[in-house]
Amino acid sequence: MTSFEAVIGLEVHAQLLTASKIFCSCAVSVGGEPNTRTCPVCLGLPGALPVLNAEVVRLAVRAGLGTGCAIQPTSVFARKNYFYPDLPKGYQITQAELPICLDGQLTLDDGKVARIQRIHLEEDAGKSIHGDSGTRVDLNRAGTPLVEIVGHPDLRSADEAVAYLRELRGILVTLGVCDGNMEEGSLRCDANVSVRPLGQDAFGTRVEIKNMNSFRSVRDAIGYEIDRQVGLIADGARVVQETRLWNMDLARTESMRSKEEAADYRYFPDPDLPPLHLDPAWLAAQRADLPELPAARKARYQQALALDARTAAWLVEEPARAVAFDQAVAEAPALAAPFAAFLMTQVQAQLQRSARPWPELAAAMPALLATCGKWRGGQLSNKMLTELLQAAFADPARTLADALAHAAAQAGAVVSDDGALEPVLDGVLAQFPAEVAKYQAGQRQLTGFFVGQVMRALGGKADAKAITALLARKLGG
Ligand code: ADP
Ligand code: MG
Ligand code: ZN
Repeated sequence: MTSFEAVIGLEVHAQLLTASKIFCSCAVSVGGEPNTRTCPVCLGLPGALPVLNAEVVRLAVRAGLGTGCAIQPTSVFARKNYFYPDLPKGYQITQAELPICLDGQLTLDDGKVARIQRIHLEEDAGKSIHGDSGTRVDLNRAGTPLVEIVGHPDLRSADEAVAYLRELRGILVTLGVCDGNMEEGSLRCDANVSVRPLGQDAFGTRVEIKNMNSFRSVRDAIGYEIDRQVGLIADGARVVQETRLWNMDLARTESMRSKEEAADYRYFPDPDLPPLHLDPAWLAAQRADLPELPAARKARYQQALALDARTAAWLVEEPARAVAFDQAVAEAPALAAPFAAFLMTQVQAQLQRSARPWPELAAAMPALLATCGKWRGGQLSNKMLTELLQAAFADPARTLADALAHAAAQAGAVVSDDGALEPVLDGVLAQFPAEVAKYQAGQRQLTGFFVGQVMRALGGKADAKAITALLARKLGG
């Protein structure tokens, strides 16, 4: 049987973090009473003229610089003509032939480079709201600034597509270009998917999948689509070029429209907007103003702070998390690696079960670092740590930082002095003479057993290191 290879290219729309819309001064905001954040420009009333928002340009340029693109000294806005109820002008203003950024790339975690074709600016459309009494149109979103980032078909699996999207999201969020919230739709991804027999150069017929609003959906939808296309070809059928939707509930892609139904958009330069010229000195200043990007941050974590690759990648994946981590460990670099591991395992486990939002966790970083330090220093046993974290995360009345302090006070102190540990250990040794003999015959792996017994006798509130040291002294370690 022939083996197949998938070919994937992503088109990502990112909503820019500006206060106002792209061509008018209406506020960009989620929610709000329908049709209250509108004006003659974004309502498309005759005679209203668009004026480009300078902040939009700055953010698009940052996106381009962050992805290694060549920023174009001149770019041009065009009209993409189509009829839809949520598009009052009858056209969308976008950039077609001359976009603001060209030819970038992303380096994925495994070192693979995936190329970016272009980044262009465009306006979002409004929203159609389908209800029992018919469909209504809300134009609050009309004119919201977007960048569309179009990737080359360089990706070869669903996992690679997810890695690309993660990398891109990390860069955009770090640069303050976009909030990166996929559930709320401020970062949206369409995936173009085709398959071809391994070894064939020519691409197969592609399908474009829309409507994916999480990393999980992107992975599942692409995986499903690859299997579907390979199945079709194996059955002697053909893949049809079309747009498909991801149906999350049924976990399958569904046909939305075929290529024949696709519109001819009749692009032409928008006569209301002059070409956008960028001043070289301004552009140089933008280039000099970039913060540390996720790839550099990850390398620094591994080299300067001795984090392993997986932990470093996990921290960097959510820029807010990395920023809070950096602030917390600035004064305690020696604790950085154990603290990162502590966040990724124990804290993450609690977070997944609780309703605590990220900003609260960021505010609690110093308290979390202190907790980790105590645990590492033996002032908290494993059991005490788990209970403390559980209690703090489940305490709805306090902020996380306060809840941690409160739970720490409740937890009390571990038993760590020999005077208190010795009688308990003696009791354990008397209870297990056979194990003592084996230990003395060289089975040092029984250390854990003895420590566990003492721990149990003390209700989990003992210093494991102190017990280990005492045991070695008593039995000759
Ligand atoms: P449009 O969708 O507007 O027709 P393009 O033809 O330039 O635009 O393609 C858009 C996206 O489709 C790009 O992200 C590109 O990487 C991807 N793509 C193009 N051809 C293929 C293919 N055969 N298989 C998978 N993806 C493809
Ligand atoms: Mg497309
Ligand atoms: Zn407006």
